[in-house]
Amino acid sequence: MGIVGEVTATPENIRVLLDSRPEGFPSAGNFRVDAAPLPVPGDGEVLLRTIYLSLDPYMRGRMLAAASYASSVPIGGVMEGGTVSEVVESRDASLAPGDIVLSHVGWQSYGVQPAADLRRLDPSLAPISSALGVLGMPGFTAYAGLLEIGRPQAGETVVVAAAAGPVGSTVGQIARLKGARAVGIAGGPEKVAYLRELGFDAALDHRSPTFEAELAAAAPDGIDVYFENVGGRVWDAVLPLLNTYARVPICGIISRYSQTEPADGPDRSAQLMQTFLAKRMTLRGFLQAEFVDSHHEQFQRDVAAWVANGDIHFREDVVDGIENAPDAFIGLLKGESRGKVLVRVGADPTA
Ligand code: NDP
Repeated sequence: MGIVGEVTATPENIRVLLDSRPEGFPSAGNFRVDAAPLPVPGDGEVLLRTIYLSLDPYMRGRMLAAASYASSVPIGGVMEGGTVSEVVESRDASLAPGDIVLSHVGWQSYGVQPAADLRRLDPSLAPISSALGVLGMPGFTAYAGLLEIGRPQAGETVVVAAAAGPVGSTVGQIARLKGARAVGIAGGPEKVAYLRELGFDAALDHRSPTFEAELAAAAPDGIDVYFENVGGRVWDAVLPLLNTYARVPICGIISRYSQTEPADGPDRSAQLMQTFLAKRMTLRGFLQAEFVDSHHEQFQRDVAAWVANGDIHFREDVVDGIENAPDAFIGLLKGESRGKVLVRVGADPTA
């Protein structure tokens, strides 16, 4: 296979490496930025220039020594992450320089991947950045988890926390499209106002001293579906309000991602089991990847149409420069971000 297109200048590959494993909450000192020569594609591979890097809560798990449901990043390794990239050099007939693709090169400005692992994006259909958000992994997580496990029915009450983020905001908007009442929970007045703009039937601040009472008032008929993103105080407030046959898709427990100690208080697991039994609830942990084969095509059709016709709105929080990825990631974990967090690593030729 001949080389199609070649890099004329010799830019460096700016990379963000995992320098040490965090004890508790991560800090900028856990990361190190370096510059390396550009990687060289082999047969069937392409050299990619990163345009957008997605920052996501799961990356906290990749910083741990012990693998959870996926392997951890080694010390000195490039942080993992989904990307939208431009093909710079191709050694595969299926892609050409200038093509824009959904890729997974991690926190670096260039990368090499097999062409077979990449999906070409059509910039005329949707902004290319949305392939990392509402039309990408977070949007799919919301779609599959809510519809396959939550199964909201018209008139039911759906509650979701981290509701101003890419997963939660999509959950709430799909719930409403299915005729359910959507109650969104987020941190702070700006996010709560945003949830109202999105059309949530009720929007609450989990930091309010009267949050538990506000949630009970916002769900007068109880909660039929709780889409779990956070755990902690929110889960404690939701549990007594769950109805018989409630469904709880367990998507994430972000309040625990940086905790090294067991949860506060006595072990309540037996009592919880009793509640689950008495209310005949369904709690189901899930990873979005398990639904790709069964649901991804329909997701792309449905959500692309909902976004195009204005039924689903989304917002992005774009930070410029790969060297700013660590601070942006820490801000995401702290709740400082406003929508899907993206790093613009290089120029977006479609903008
Ligand atoms: P977000 O952009 O919503 O960011 C996470 C949000 O969590 C923060 O903005 C903050 O929002 C909230 N948060 C952080 N700490 C706490 C806390 N202690 N208590 C309550 N809320 C807190 O993230 P995503 O939309 O990308 O992801 C949402 C969840 O979905 C995460 O748990 C993530 O791990 C999970 N996920 C799971 C997947 C799966 O396959 N199972 C795939 C993708 C995501 P606020 O300021 O509103 O409190």
